[in-house]
Amino acid sequence: MKPSQIAQRLEQFESVCRERGVPLTVQRRDILQTILERDDHPSAEQVYEAVKTHIPGLSRTTVYRALDTLADLGVIRRLHHPGTGARFDGNLQRHHHLVCRKCWCVIDIESAGLDGLRLSAAERHGFEIEDYSVHFTGLCQECFRQRSK
Ligand SMILES: [Zn+2]
Ligand SMILES: [Zn+2]
Repeated sequence: MKPSQIAQRLEQFESVCRERGVPLTVQRRDILQTILERDDHPSAEQVYEAVKTHIPGLSRTTVYRALDTLADLGVIRRLHHPGTGARFDGNLQRHHHLVCRKCWCVIDIESAGLDGLRLSAAERHGFEIEDYSVHFTGLCQECFRQRSK
């Protein structure tokens, strides 16, 4: 994400905290910034590893709780792809994912075709779809190369 976009998202986060009466802590802000700066959909553990280098003494529990709070506030997304455990995504625009079944990397993709999906089966159930994200499982370039060696 571009620095200007990150600044904008952090500002937005501050106003969400004010509106919802959630204390804006340095840790929460820092954790959000860490997620916005990367696009590899880190796990809670990876976020902890990254953030603890600049907030010494930060506990794992604090990071895990902060991630839950950020996801509940809707400023990040929690992803649950089978096999990967929870991963965190700072990209709130509609997009889709390629998930490697070997190294579990998660790659963002954009596709007008997928964005324009209409599901008549959902309509038959009277279900109003508000949002969706499609994920494809397979092998990333690196893992595919390794395998065919
Ligand atoms: Zn892979
Ligand atoms: Zn994503």
